[in-house]
Amino acid sequence: SENVPAGTARGAPDVPPQRTDAPGIRFEKVVKRFGRNVVLRELDFEVAPGERVTLIGPSGSGKTTILRLLMTLEKVDGGVIWIGDRPLSHMRRGDRLVPANEKHLHEMRKQVGMVFQQFNLFPNMNVLRNLTEAPMRVLGLSKDEAVERARRLLDMVGLADKIDAHPSQLSGGQQQRVAIARALAMEPKVLLLDEVTSALDPELVVGVQDLLRDIARGSDLTMLCVTHEMGFARDISDRVLMFDQGQIVEEGPPERIFEEPAEQRTRDFLQAVL
Ligand code: ADP
Repeated sequence: SENVPAGTARGAPDVPPQRTDAPGIRFEKVVKRFGRNVVLRELDFEVAPGERVTLIGPSGSGKTTILRLLMTLEKVDGGVIWIGDRPLSHMRRGDRLVPANEKHLHEMRKQVGMVFQQFNLFPNMNVLRNLTEAPMRVLGLSKDEAVERARRLLDMVGLADKIDAHPSQLSGGQQQRVAIARALAMEPKVLLLDEVTSALDPELVVGVQDLLRDIARGSDLTMLCVTHEMGFARDISDRVLMFDQGQIVEEGPPERIFEEPAEQRTRDFLQAVL
């Protein structure tokens, strides 16, 4: 595996120019435990700016924990998480890093959007307010700006006519489209997708996957995705990381990982899900 420290690539003469201003992600010796269960043990990995990476691996291997750490829904027990050249889990104090306070987390969170398995829309708000609430409250957009942005995104996800509907009036697929639009309404630079189609009825899966594939191809977001849908993983990712027990077993372009897995654990996993 190539654990290039962030900053090494920047300015190096033989590295192609960045195609994006989105920051990369770097886990540096990250430790995460729940009680005595050590889920991540000095995990190192990096996602390049604008790169789309999918995490695969058996249930319980730590994939969701990685996304939750990036959403600051969990705290690291060791190591540092970086978004670009800024620490996420920590903040700078002179030339030292100290654990992040709420203000730092709030600031950093603006860069990161997440779409969840269970949509997590605000059930008491209509679609429009689901999309305008955070941009107004967190980013300080005016109502007009937020509404215009919401309309544009609803148009993009094909739900312009549902602007006044409540989540309970929408199908699972429609709710997930709204959730995708809501994440994008914050104009994040990093987008996290956690099993975004696993709660959907089978006939709704492809539509949501196609939408996300188009978003992935049409944007320069840095994306980190967890999925059990290998076709989708192949479609949207530049690189796949195979996890087992909190560690990277193997990594590579999706064609290589899916067609010629080098590790027995990857072969076993793929056999079980395909
Ligand atoms: P995956 O997404 O690969 O299925 P997870 O990141 O959800 O794996 O879980 C990794 C490990 O962490 C599992 O052993 C799980 O039981 C444990 N775990 C995850 N979240 C919690 C939590 N909130 N409290 C206790 N244990 C947890």
